[in-house]
Amino acid sequence: MVSGIPRTVAEELDAADPLAAFRERFVIADPELIYLDGNSLGPLPAATPEVLREVVEDGWGGGLVRSWQGWIDWGARLGDRLAEYVLGAAPGEVVISDSTSVNLYKLAAAALDAAPGRGTVLMDAEDFPTNRYIVQGLAEQRGLRLVRLPSELDGGLDLDALRAALNGDVALVVLSLVSYRSGALLDMAQVNDLAHAVGARVVWDVSHAAGAVPVDLAGSGAELAVGCTYKYLNGGPGSPAFLYVRRDLQTRLRQPVWGWYGQRDQFAMGPDYDPVPGIERFLVSTPPLVSLAAIDPALALVEEAGLARIRAKGVRLGRLADDLADSWLTPLGFRPASPRPPERRGSHLSLHHPDAWRICQALAADAKVVCDYRVPDRLRIGLSPLVTRFTDVWDALDRIRDVVAEGVYASRPADLARVT
Ligand SMILES: *Cc1c(COP(=O)(O)O)cnc(C)c1O
Repeated sequence: MVSGIPRTVAEELDAADPLAAFRERFVIADPELIYLDGNSLGPLPAATPEVLREVVEDGWGGGLVRSWQGWIDWGARLGDRLAEYVLGAAPGEVVISDSTSVNLYKLAAAALDAAPGRGTVLMDAEDFPTNRYIVQGLAEQRGLRLVRLPSELDGGLDLDALRAALNGDVALVVLSLVSYRSGALLDMAQVNDLAHAVGARVVWDVSHAAGAVPVDLAGSGAELAVGCTYKYLNGGPGSPAFLYVRRDLQTRLRQPVWGWYGQRDQFAMGPDYDPVPGIERFLVSTPPLVSLAAIDPALALVEEAGLARIRAKGVRLGRLADDLADSWLTPLGFRPASPRPPERRGSHLSLHHPDAWRICQALAADAKVVCDYRVPDRLRIGLSPLVTRFTDVWDALDRIRDVVAEGVYASRPADLARVT
């Protein structure tokens, strides 16, 4: 008899779950596999292969170049849907384009260009690496002072440190709404208010929030944001990212990569760059149409489920994971590495264990549990409310307990793989 919460509790939660049926709308290739990594790469929606087949065979194969008549505005069309259902923004404020890294560069550079008298940039010392590197590069190229705000690995940004660092010299603050490692969730409105009070702009990265946590860009006073579509939005490996620029700022900001997709009357092929007044001025080039097309059926599932229900289930899944971790895993040398309760984080959590990397490998190889390892010594568990069942959480933590209690992971290599 196992101690702690009996499996029947998880079974009852599944039976009462209003989102339970969404799991069947995804490809479940191996029913025994428990996939807890939808925050790195969301699973494949069952409708996506047919959509891709149509785009490739009918659109590319049949329509050839003529298909661009219909394709050309897909980034803006999908951006409007993201704005409405996922990001709390208005039509014409969001567009799909490039990658998250590139969009962050574009918007951060645009914000810096618009604040020529200011010499300081703030970032979270523990932000996702690409964000830190991009901000570091911009600061170095422009001779700006870069301040790395202290952040607790497991608790998130120190708001007092942010307050103390904000002054009239700060041009830009770059932050993630949900921390990639701990899941710590910031209060977007509060941070915007603090920054705007000294005239600084914030570029938000909502990659680990979009599709899991309701994002309220308009309601929180956000001016600029970027994010990715291949995590909780299930757009597929390397699917293009999105960017948001609040309507009133669009004509006041100019991004640094002057591509023809931002150009007024694009096919007039005019001599000089003259960007459109709307959100498309933040576009650069021809979109990766096949990848872009995969966002459509994925987004339809999120729209149908609704972010409020997705978030409510995510919190309940997180609470179950916390409770099971406390009763089963803490005695085995784990400790929580995420804020609690689950309302204070996104839809993933981390657990610290000195052998986390070897445990992570053993889980995938021997126990059919796929989660993530993140430096240092953290097992990261992503809960995707459209596919993850309460019994998946119960079974996964049960398998983690077995793998650790029986020392199954001891033979796994300590050296990190190319991709972790
Ligand atoms: C996933 C993620 C990215 C991804 O960047 P790419 O340009 O797609 O490689 C960037 N920032 C954050 C915070 C992320 O979570």
